[in-house]
Amino acid sequence: MIAAFVHATELPADLTHAAGLVMADGKLILDSQGSPFWSRSELEHEGWCDQASSEHMLGYWQNQPVVVLGLSPESMPTHARMSLRQAMFMADEKLQALAGRAAQVLTWERDYRFCSRCATALTVVTHERALICPACQLTFYPRINPCIIVLVTHGDAMLLAHGVRFVQPFFSCLAGFIEAGESAEEALHREVYEEVGLRVGELQYFRSQSWPFPHSLMLGYHATYLSGKLRPDPEEIVEARWFEPDALGSLPPEGSLARALIDAHLRRVCRG
Ligand SMILES: [Zn+2]
Repeated sequence: MIAAFVHATELPADLTHAAGLVMADGKLILDSQGSPFWSRSELEHEGWCDQASSEHMLGYWQNQPVVVLGLSPESMPTHARMSLRQAMFMADEKLQALAGRAAQVLTWERDYRFCSRCATALTVVTHERALICPACQLTFYPRINPCIIVLVTHGDAMLLAHGVRFVQPFFSCLAGFIEAGESAEEALHREVYEEVGLRVGELQYFRSQSWPFPHSLMLGYHATYLSGKLRPDPEEIVEARWFEPDALGSLPPEGSLARALIDAHLRRVCRG
């Protein structure tokens, strides 16, 4: 069986058979069939190989090399496009991850141009995904910010919250960044207490998801309620409530780790 995706960073010498994703201003450019994959001859025909401000190897998708071309927002094509948020809710999780990887690599290259220690212009390292300062040798890898996301449960009920920064009207799991020097578990206990005033007992790791807005890695957990009274932090949370499985409101979209945590809990309680 061919693995769907194999990571690689070095551009192949011959790009004739490489497929390309094209991104401009954080959006994926789609072909006339609505696919984000372009053949090399199509990319050349559109003139994008010359126009691209950057090109990076992403890896092998079903054994075919895949690169991403970054176009400047000024050269945004008139073709159909897909926002990164839409891409992250695509049904195919591997394709979702590939789009997220492409976006993060381009954002990283755009935002890391000079050494933060000595201000020299950075150069690209070819054997790994890195930029290096030619003066002081400081190396810059793509930045990843780890976050925890947790579904707190109490029997069958789930604690869901509507955050102050939510654009959509749904209720979701609690989430927060891991601080320097903190373990994921410590961050989880701290975030739950800070955001809603509860203590949680047993934690169960679920799975993780790369979340390219702009460079988060979400670590998903289930946690059981231990003690405390709901006391949402008004700086973070508009409303937090316990939801029974038969009386759910609007949920986070499919494809998100929050939704996967909720669905996993619902499957468990409905079987039990
Ligand atoms: Zn330097």
